[in-house]
Amino acid sequence: MTSQDLLTALHLDPAHFTKGELAVTSPIDGAVLGHVDLDSPQMVSAKIGKATDAFASWRAVPGPQRGELVRLLGEELRDHKEALGRLVSAECGKILEEGKGEVQEMIDICDFAVGLSRQLYGLTIASERPGHAMRETWQPLGPVGVISAFNFPVAVWSWNAALALVCGDPVIWKPSEKTPLTALACQALFERAVKRFGAAPEGLSHVIIGAADVGEAMVDDPRLPLISATGSCAMGRKVGPRVAARFGRCLLELGGNNAIIVTPSADLDLAVRGIVFGAVGTAGQRCTSTRRLIVHESVYDTLMPRLKKAYDAVTVGNPLEGALVGPLIDKASFDGMERSLEKARKEGGTVHGGGRVLEDEYPNAYYARPALVDMPKQAGVMVEETFAPILYVVTYSTLDEAIALQNGVPQGLSSAIFTNDVREAERYLSATGSDCGIANVNIGTSGAEIGGAFGGEKDTGGGRESGSDAWKVYMRRQTSTVNYSTDLPLAQGIKFDL
Ligand code: NAD
Repeated sequence: MTSQDLLTALHLDPAHFTKGELAVTSPIDGAVLGHVDLDSPQMVSAKIGKATDAFASWRAVPGPQRGELVRLLGEELRDHKEALGRLVSAECGKILEEGKGEVQEMIDICDFAVGLSRQLYGLTIASERPGHAMRETWQPLGPVGVISAFNFPVAVWSWNAALALVCGDPVIWKPSEKTPLTALACQALFERAVKRFGAAPEGLSHVIIGAADVGEAMVDDPRLPLISATGSCAMGRKVGPRVAARFGRCLLELGGNNAIIVTPSADLDLAVRGIVFGAVGTAGQRCTSTRRLIVHESVYDTLMPRLKKAYDAVTVGNPLEGALVGPLIDKASFDGMERSLEKARKEGGTVHGGGRVLEDEYPNAYYARPALVDMPKQAGVMVEETFAPILYVVTYSTLDEAIALQNGVPQGLSSAIFTNDVREAERYLSATGSDCGIANVNIGTSGAEIGGAFGGEKDTGGGRESGSDAWKVYMRRQTSTVNYSTDLPLAQGIKFDL
């Protein structure tokens, strides 16, 4: 299918994508997929104005009816899973299975949100005063600004949008400037759902195309009470304080430097599969990609040859033609990988793999062999996130040491341990174990399900999206006390007799 065919299948007119200012290229071969128009900060302001108007009526629509719109969005996604999955692959270079998997994740969160739309539970609370009732309710918050990264070009929007919409909030989305077409396709599918729904206010969902400047216009706008920003720690470090300066709320989903611990009792067949998928899947371009391996010294000599064999066998190539590892997003990303490998060598590391491949076939794309790097200790380059398929390996002798190594980086997103020892597993999941938002036993660091809250601690930003009670960030909490007595007793027994 050509990019024109995909756009048509997703209800976008290819004629609209022939002369915009921003050329969108595919990391698969460097081919231009289309041109899109950029939004100016003034256009951002106008769209926020429309979303603010939409909020005035959407917040009054009952939750289950808001859920019906999200159910219809889920149906559109089901009907267009193949085409949208292919466009995701074409625009960000992930293999087709993962492109379609990303759309499935969107469908899953829509299903979750539909159920949630009949819940949005508050609390009743025992009042200390006679004849009084106390309760806590959750009210719609306002238009939500979503800023997303290139590597999950559509799922991150849906995690936010499906929940925000059932919570009564319009959504203004600035996708990565590297992946605007998939965003426009999502908007087209959303508009189809709105048409079928019939009674939604205009302006419930907007897409803003552009780079950091338009992102900043959103970040600074007080009409957006919540900014949900997914991307690098460097981006979060700029966005967080700006939103805080206007007392806005931030949901930050930032970088990870995720580790797997392999213990003496580990099932090495499982471990090898979990490690390789986590480290080389999506060409190491997931926030949850496995970047560090902490191996017990007694299993190191058995594990490493198996890992090297698996690394040598992994196919790197066109993600639409069956390869397991696709390209890096662009040249800057490949250069970053090269720089990190060079640093690792300087720090005493031994590199297995790495380097550009398929240069003759795809001179305008950047395919790299995944790299496995033996490090003398955890320091320097190993404590940074390089957004590429590099897996650093160190050994440990005690579990305390392994947990200290795992937690000894600035980021705190995902983590895993392979063990068949229940004491080790429980210790790892205890208060003195992994310090990450996600801690797994006998599965790898990547591939979260939408039912759980997703996000991480420390430099990862502390935000939570998706399942569990992550919806609460999209709402305003209200505590109410109702006096149904004929007296006016004061709290804490205070007397104030007039
Ligand atoms: P990036 O930080 O370069 O860009 C992310 C988004 O932020 C883009 O839309 C970009 O235009 C915008 N942006 C950049 N500077 C901004 C500013 N000053 N104000 C407002 N917006 C700004 O990240 P990327 O290269 O697209 O994605 C890779 C990074 O994202 C990695 O660090 C990865 O770990 C992280 N990531 C995290 C999660 C998570 O859930 N924790 C998920 C996906 C990706």
